Amino acid sequence: MTAQIIDGKAFAASVREKVAGHVARLKQDHGLTPGLAVVLVGEDPASQVYVRNKGKQTKEAGMLSVEHRLPDTTSEAEILALVETLNADPSIHGILVQLPLPEHVNAELVINAIDPAKDVDGFHISNVGLLGTGQKSMVPCTPLGCLMMLRAHHGSLSGMDAVVVGRSNIVGKPMAQLLLGESCTVTIAHSRTRDLPEVVRRADIVVAAVGRPQMIPGDWIKPGATVIDVGINRVPKDDGKSRLVGDVDFDSAVEVAGAITPVPGGVGPMTIACLLANTVTACCRANGLPEPE
Ligand code: NDP
Repeated sequence: MTAQIIDGKAFAASVREKVAGHVARLKQDHGLTPGLAVVLVGEDPASQVYVRNKGKQTKEAGMLSVEHRLPDTTSEAEILALVETLNADPSIHGILVQLPLPEHVNAELVINAIDPAKDVDGFHISNVGLLGTGQKSMVPCTPLGCLMMLRAHHGSLSGMDAVVVGRSNIVGKPMAQLLLGESCTVTIAHSRTRDLPEVVRRADIVVAAVGRPQMIPGDWIKPGATVIDVGINRVPKDDGKSRLVGDVDFDSAVEVAGAITPVPGGVGPMTIACLLANTVTACCRANGLPEPE
């Protein structure tokens, strides 16, 4: 039996629709327009694409989208000054500084200069600490999207064995915290993990966030497990073009898993949808209004 495909594209469309509905109500009932500011430093081509998509979807949801595109020669002090201006701007509820930043800029310093209440990426040290201690925080968008899909598929995740492969600050670690918050038994695997296939084989939920094309084959997957593939890897095709693949070997995993997210069309679309949702949440919190569910 082949796995159920978790359609991230459709799920993200439903999240965006809910966000747009909430934005319309905030405007109508409270005269508020949630505002998201994105800061892009330099010419990184992937970042340019992300920022363009973020801006487009922010506007489509009826929100204010502000973009600050700065040359890669911009000094750390200038970026910090811009962050301060955005922190003080009441029309801006979410601030996102697109990573990576140029090498001469201390990314941690910049991220930690963002007002934690406006930190819609959830990377500020205060939000990391709040998430780690199970308190209300801004949750990083990619793991939040993964969790939403898992919850929608399973309902309760309580007691399930979850293995997160990858321990980055932006995906692996917050994903593990979220799953722990759902009362999963969580293992975080990484490049030094011994016998990774055996570790993955005991998981009811596998979240792969490694950045290695098709590294996890189907025979590492426990029959019936749910597989969330965060990886986005571009690999060459025979015709000289390229295609996107995940960290999981989809063709073999789909034969074993109970449910699986495809790449593309799985986790990716959920990330921006969650960014929009976080911006609405930040706007509600800033104005003492009930948050969207
Ligand atoms: P990082 O490079 O920051 O982290 C990769 C992690 O994988 C590290 O913890 C590393 O371990 C671990 N790892 C590397 N090699 C192995 C191995 N052979 N076995 C086990 N673990 C290994 O990546 P990110 O977390 O930023 O991203 C991961 C993937 O997710 C990438 O493909 C990225 O493009 C994608 N991504 C997708 C997003 C989306 O919106 N869908 C958003 C963000 C990322 P160690 O710590 O020991 O080095």
